[in-house]
Amino acid sequence: MKTKTIRRDKVNVVTLGCSKNLVDSENMITQLRGNDYEVVHDSNDEDANIIIVNTCGFIDLAKEESVNTILEYAEVKKQGDIDKLYVTGCLSQRYKDDLEQEIPEVDAYFGTLELPALLSRLNADYKHDLIGERSIMTPFHYAYLKISEGCNRTCSFCAIPLMRGKHISKPIEELVKEAKSLARRGVKELMLIAQELTYYGLDLYKKRELPRLLNALADVEGIEWIRLHYAYPSKFPLEIFDVMAERKEICNYLDIPLQHASNSVLDRMRRQITQEETRELIQEARKRVPGIAIRTTMLVGFPGETEEEFEELCEFVQDMEFERLGVFQYSHEEDTRAYDLEDDIPAEVKAERANRIMEIQQDISYRKNLDKIGQTFKVLFDRKEGEYFVGRTESDSAEVDNEVLVDAKTQYVRLGDFAEVKIIDASEYDLFGEILG
Ligand code: SF4
Repeated sequence: MKTKTIRRDKVNVVTLGCSKNLVDSENMITQLRGNDYEVVHDSNDEDANIIIVNTCGFIDLAKEESVNTILEYAEVKKQGDIDKLYVTGCLSQRYKDDLEQEIPEVDAYFGTLELPALLSRLNADYKHDLIGERSIMTPFHYAYLKISEGCNRTCSFCAIPLMRGKHISKPIEELVKEAKSLARRGVKELMLIAQELTYYGLDLYKKRELPRLLNALADVEGIEWIRLHYAYPSKFPLEIFDVMAERKEICNYLDIPLQHASNSVLDRMRRQITQEETRELIQEARKRVPGIAIRTTMLVGFPGETEEEFEELCEFVQDMEFERLGVFQYSHEEDTRAYDLEDDIPAEVKAERANRIMEIQQDISYRKNLDKIGQTFKVLFDRKEGEYFVGRTESDSAEVDNEVLVDAKTQYVRLGDFAEVKIIDASEYDLFGEILG
């Protein structure tokens, strides 16, 4: 009789960085479980004997967090409390040689595309029948869907292409299969992610095919919301707005990092777009998709950013009244084109500029939230926290945007369900509501 061998090893996968890394960890966990490994994710329990750290190498702060995490586990290994320590992800892709020298306690380092090698090191097979299957680590009702890997752009500040390589789109059929599998497991909201969403299809189909992909995903039964993250503004395919307006499943939401508004800075950043073209694009989005929520991120403190250039950015943010906005401070990354420029903006000026932008945005956000009082929205409930059920409207993505709070002492909603909510109060970044019916 054939008996199944259960491994006694237990793996803890520790994920740092963005949602794209999370998806990689989810795939890794599925493969390990498919090989009979017991796997936990980001666990604080100390019973795992194998640790895999999936690192981030995006900017200074992220790199520091990744290195500190590796060092912590290297120490745990030295104490004899774990058997093996592996490191993968962006930081490891970018600085493998240095890390091998600096932190030799790690048993092996792997790059972003080396999952099969990592599995082989664990005596596990890379199972092709598990491609597209994922162990979801987000709440069961939403999941990220990575539609491509890498980026062909040449933004001068960005180290991502160094770590993630050239753009590779996943075929539409594969993504639809993945979406169907997620829907069968209760996922209602898909968050599409990529380094550069709008490039989708150019490598594979020789044309931009995001609209076709969106239509195909919107047809998947059970998927009620599809949300778009990380669109590049230059040569934006405007048909995306038409699909968004036509299909109720595509959220009226666009995450489009703009980085700056001063033409001279945009030029130095090699963003291939001007402020005038950006304004036209945002106007077009608002015309074609009334009520669209636009999320953007700005980058302050780029080499040579003068006070005048920064003021231009402030005016732009003030004028455009984005629904959501975040700010990064420039991080001087070796091997990028901007590394040849002098990182001449002092850290305190970068921080002060970031704060000034966020102060402008805070007022805008508060005003927009106050306008919502008295209105009713469809809300998807993510979690219960303290005395509140916490959910989001179509205008808000998980973890980065506004939330809707409903008093859990007097009302009830099942997590993962949609409900109609009337907004009764607002703060800068949150809404308070009552469930109707
Ligand atoms: S489009 Fe985004 S990921 Fe690509 S190089 Fe520019 S900033 Fe980096």
